[in-house]
Amino acid sequence: MLGYLEALKLVLERAEPLPPRRVPLLEALGLAAAEDIRAAEPVPPFTNSAMDGFALRCGDAAPGRLPVAGTVPAGMAEVPPLGPGEALRIMTGAPMPAGADAVVPIEFVRVEDGWVVLSGTPRPGANIRLAGEDIPAGGLVVSAGAVLRPAEVGVLAAIGCPEVPVRPRPRVAVITTGNELVDAGDRPGPGRIRDANIHSLCAQALAAGAIPLPRPRVEDSREAVARAVREALDEADVVLTNGGISVGDFDYIKAVLEDHGAERIFWKVAQKPGSPLGLWVHKGRLIFGIPGNPVAAMLMFEAYVRPALRRMMGYRNLHRPERAGILEAAWKRSGDPMRTEFLRVVAGPGGKVALAGPQGSGILSGMMRANALALIPEGPTVLEAGSEVLLQLIDEAEDH
Ligand code: AMP
Ligand code: MG
Repeated sequence: MLGYLEALKLVLERAEPLPPRRVPLLEALGLAAAEDIRAAEPVPPFTNSAMDGFALRCGDAAPGRLPVAGTVPAGMAEVPPLGPGEALRIMTGAPMPAGADAVVPIEFVRVEDGWVVLSGTPRPGANIRLAGEDIPAGGLVVSAGAVLRPAEVGVLAAIGCPEVPVRPRPRVAVITTGNELVDAGDRPGPGRIRDANIHSLCAQALAAGAIPLPRPRVEDSREAVARAVREALDEADVVLTNGGISVGDFDYIKAVLEDHGAERIFWKVAQKPGSPLGLWVHKGRLIFGIPGNPVAAMLMFEAYVRPALRRMMGYRNLHRPERAGILEAAWKRSGDPMRTEFLRVVAGPGGKVALAGPQGSGILSGMMRANALALIPEGPTVLEAGSEVLLQLIDEAEDH
């Protein structure tokens, strides 16, 4: 059977970056730039004062007092040149007058009857911001694949880039299936449970930066599943079906997808939980068949869907940070040892790792406690206390 890393590779091979789109800066936060972006003009665009004070020529400062010939406010278009032996009152951000080579801050002078009285000798260049000192004309501001944080957004505004080419957010349709399911707001009758997964999966999509499209829940019938998949494919870049992907009598997802002409990339992975995971492609769109057990559903999103969405969004870093941890207590595998196990764990200080409670694939509350997954590779049936395990830190961002 296909292993976890092989399956992940197949997923990432199929998850192409979405075609770039220009979005207004206000919508760009958190998205990856689709191209290198250079500054067409220098920032700041002109040499200007860094302080409120007096613009002067340092060579004229020796008498210790200079007549104030006028005022230069920020935004002034035509700044008078500085006459010999004079000073000009100047505000922060105002263009430097021709001839001036320093600004003395207002706090360091006295003003008397139209004269400015200096208390020391200014240094040429003092309190002046040079044109292009922040960003030179032609300078690379953001490289393709860089994530736009608030600082990038601000810099893009400063260079006059009100729209930015980015990889857009994928639209992710989520279809939950199962006759046993009722809405979160409903009281389940006998034999029924609430649909937790529509919420956890949509929340995961949102947390990944994608746009979740929760679809109406589907009963376990072939026709209903077929209709839901068709409609979802019409409006989404990625479709997540949930439940009905195993070998139960009412598990229709596989058959429906293949009837619809979707190409099966894989079905079943040597992993626990989540062994019935499948991937199909239809007209370039990914369809993940995700098992219904609530923990399996979340883990499959974390392990496969999230990296795929990140790739579609053009991010460079697809994976959570990994590090080694040390199991505090022995762990014994149950069942087939030839599969990867994703244990929900709490990674504490000093690399210590404890299980985040019972590991059943229906124990959704364990996902709240876990801050990491321990990946147990195929093979060992027992790990003694003190064994080293590989951790994926699922509370930490990929970017860092
Ligand atoms: P399935 O993959 O459809 O065989 O479902 C496996 C288990 O997960 C069953 O116990 C289902 O009741 C449960 N389950 C499936 N879908 C959901 C859901 N959306 N929310 C909560 N539990 C679910
Ligand atoms: Mg089901």
